[in-house]
Amino acid sequence: MNITFKIDSAFDDYCQMCQQLGPPEFGVKTHRSLPTQTWKVEGTIDDEIKWFVLCSDCLRNACKSDEVAEVLEQDGTPFTENGKFFLR
Ligand SMILES: [Zn+2]
Repeated sequence: MNITFKIDSAFDDYCQMCQQLGPPEFGVKTHRSLPTQTWKVEGTIDDEIKWFVLCSDCLRNACKSDEVAEVLEQDGTPFTENGKFFLR
């Protein structure tokens, strides 16, 4: 799989990767009462575009994932931890 994430805008919601109800698909679950910083993210997966809501922690983890080619800021530059809020 070839995955690229690009941050679109700040979006206050539960993170789809770590705060959904039900069994965890990826990594560690974060309790819903914990305030995460979440973003609307455009994901390109094998040339198909899907939208996600992801927290800063999951985006940082995505940077380290072998399946994720790139994580980009709103302006198209590589993901930076500057100005972001992390729980873990
Ligand atoms: Zn998350």
